[in-house]
Amino acid sequence: FQQLIDQDTIAAQATAPGRGGVGIIRLSGPKSLDIAKAIIGFDPKPRYAHYVPFKDDNDEQLDMGIALYFPGPNSFTGEDVFELQGHGGPVILDMLMTRCTALGARLARPGEFSERAFLNDKMDLTQAEAIADLIDSSSEQAAKCALRSLQGAFSKRVTELVEALIHLRIYVEAAIDFPEEEIDFIGDGKVAAELEGIQIKLNAVLKEANQGALLREGMNVVIAGRPNAGKSSLLNTLSGKDSAIVTNIAGTTRDVLREHIHLDGMPLHIIDTAGLRDSPDEVEQIGIQRAWDEIHKADRILLMVDSQTVGSKDPEEIWPEFVAQLPSRDKLTLVRNKVDLTKETTGLESINDLPILSLSAKTGQGIDALSQHLKAVMGFESTTEGGFIARRRHIEALNKTNDFLRSGHEQLHGFGAGELLAEDLKEAQQALSEITGEFTSDDLLGRIFGSFCIGK
Ligand code: GDP
Ligand code: ZN
Repeated sequence: FQQLIDQDTIAAQATAPGRGGVGIIRLSGPKSLDIAKAIIGFDPKPRYAHYVPFKDDNDEQLDMGIALYFPGPNSFTGEDVFELQGHGGPVILDMLMTRCTALGARLARPGEFSERAFLNDKMDLTQAEAIADLIDSSSEQAAKCALRSLQGAFSKRVTELVEALIHLRIYVEAAIDFPEEEIDFIGDGKVAAELEGIQIKLNAVLKEANQGALLREGMNVVIAGRPNAGKSSLLNTLSGKDSAIVTNIAGTTRDVLREHIHLDGMPLHIIDTAGLRDSPDEVEQIGIQRAWDEIHKADRILLMVDSQTVGSKDPEEIWPEFVAQLPSRDKLTLVRNKVDLTKETTGLESINDLPILSLSAKTGQGIDALSQHLKAVMGFESTTEGGFIARRRHIEALNKTNDFLRSGHEQLHGFGAGELLAEDLKEAQQALSEITGEFTSDDLLGRIFGSFCIGK
């Protein structure tokens, strides 16, 4: 495995580009120590902060700062790492980078330091991903959960499941290999009990991972409705900005507008769609098509009506063509707007499983109930106690694992089929291991680390 790892020495600016109080250049690889010696003029003491001049090849000073040396394997990447903390000016940092590359280092690719840490077993894939998620986190909750993933909270849950699966597989495969023992898979409650135990644990992890992915990716909420219902006003009230143009001329919002906000730490992408109506106007029709694209991707669809003109609380009656085109009614919430004018009671009610909110986008009455409702439908909990960050990729792998376990369960109960159960268990383990990166393709690794910033 070691041979797979690039033996180049890589260098990158670890601090953000531009001006700053401090600028950091980081090196990793076998030449780090030699480069360090050339720049600071002596053998650096491991894990010791030297305040020294950084010199060029004519022994002239380029900058003055802190030099740190971390010999492998006790470093971030597992390789020899050298860090120069100089002044954060782009010219100075450029000169230092040029000096490092002249001494044999090459520019690091995005995420290459983290990739090396992963390849050198300093962390697993969920931990490496958590680094990027920590840097990109959009709220305090997301940051706390990313940190917990980085410290291994998610990997630990996955590893426990993998171990339970291995335990069960050993038992099942032994039974297949020694048929003279005549193990009756159904009669023997042990296999079924263990399998069901794993399924329960997996579902618990899946639920937590969903919450983690929600923290990272946010919830997509589409506001749909006839022109003048008050969609743009609601977007503005929720985002606290005048980003959407509010007018009383029907058809003003011709395109899709997006806002990113947080409700008690839950990230939301709110999308105001073009007034959905049949229109001969070509530009408006494109807007309508985009609105439908958003509706298909939405986690929640708020169908907004003007309560002054719409008395009904039944979407099929209010707008049959719209409801007929919906992918499902499960994601629908009816929003009765402008209750400041109609004096209807604000808040949430439910008729035939359809949530109905009465509010005023203009005055803000009933907006709290909307926030509560959105958090409730996503199962979002404002506390981050023990939570971890997760990605869509993780959810997919957990779902795949779940499918194999369910199929294995059917094989067991339907046919008492040991071989087929064994095959499903093997596949389930493989799917799970993709999360922590034991069976991960180079292609996937490239995609994951390629989205990191340079120098991380
Ligand atoms: P959209 O076409 O659905 O985006 O609707 P707008 O947000 O542009 O609103 C249309 C008109 O209704 C504007 O004049 C808004 O000021 C008004 N409006 C929107 N929400 C309310 C509300 O809750 N109460 C009142 N009184 N007027 C509202
Ligand atoms: Zn609008």
